[in-house]
Amino acid sequence: MIVLKSEREIGLMRRSGHILADVVQLIRDMVKPGMSTLEVDDAVEAFIRECGALPAFKGYRGFPATVCISINEEVVHGIPSAHRRMKEGDIVGFDLGCIVEGYYADCAVTLPLGEIPPRVQELLDVTRESLERAIAECRPGRRLSDVSHAVQRHVDPHGFGIVRTFVGHGIGRALHEEPQVPNFGDPGRGPQLKPGMVLAIEPMVTLGSHDVKILDDGWTAVTRDGSLAAHFEHTVAVTENGPEVLTSKNHSEGASTAPSEASPRRDCAGFAGARTGTRQP
Ligand code: MG
Repeated sequence: MIVLKSEREIGLMRRSGHILADVVQLIRDMVKPGMSTLEVDDAVEAFIRECGALPAFKGYRGFPATVCISINEEVVHGIPSAHRRMKEGDIVGFDLGCIVEGYYADCAVTLPLGEIPPRVQELLDVTRESLERAIAECRPGRRLSDVSHAVQRHVDPHGFGIVRTFVGHGIGRALHEEPQVPNFGDPGRGPQLKPGMVLAIEPMVTLGSHDVKILDDGWTAVTRDGSLAAHFEHTVAVTENGPEVLTSKNHSEGASTAPSEASPRRDCAGFAGARTGTRQP
């Protein structure tokens, strides 16, 4: 069942989302080559707690940190470590959520550190744009798979891989609610979108194959072919007037192409929506 949120509930999710928007800016300002991923995690956790919120991922199904930090061929769910240092030329995905008065928001961004090749920049741009296209579909009367299709339609012509194992998700009083939001599929299917629905939309796109595997730590998902991967995510409310991006303070962010701006699959949710097949740690 898809739970519709009241104005009050969306207000709490907006507060949560705006804290995440500030965290993303903090990360943009802070991250430098040579820094360890644990340093980033520590700073972000402190910031979220100073804001009076709680980190959503820490302890979730046993995840040990506040931010999932996934470098290069890591797609999602990388575990911060004092021994893992970011370096010039890396692309680094930061995925995090927080909770305000019981209500969740979830977002992700992938940042380049210094110079990266044009094709890698294209990967980042196209993944972010595909999220924007998907957000533009979040309006009453559209169907759920219109959101999914918008991602695929934008990504496919570029020859990139779209990860299938993890998908976006509903969000509210839980990090992962119904429905699942795949990043692929034909349009015009699934439930009609209604005001009060809130979706975490999160395309994960690779330079090569879409196939992923999980490392021995039980969390880190990497591309099976070792190709680079990008991940962007926003929490988006469907309103009478179209999409509201709750994880942005700029209401029009992600709406460069249209008004306003992405969890493993059911029964095995991770942060990146839901995960098919195996059980999530
Ligand atoms: Mg998510």
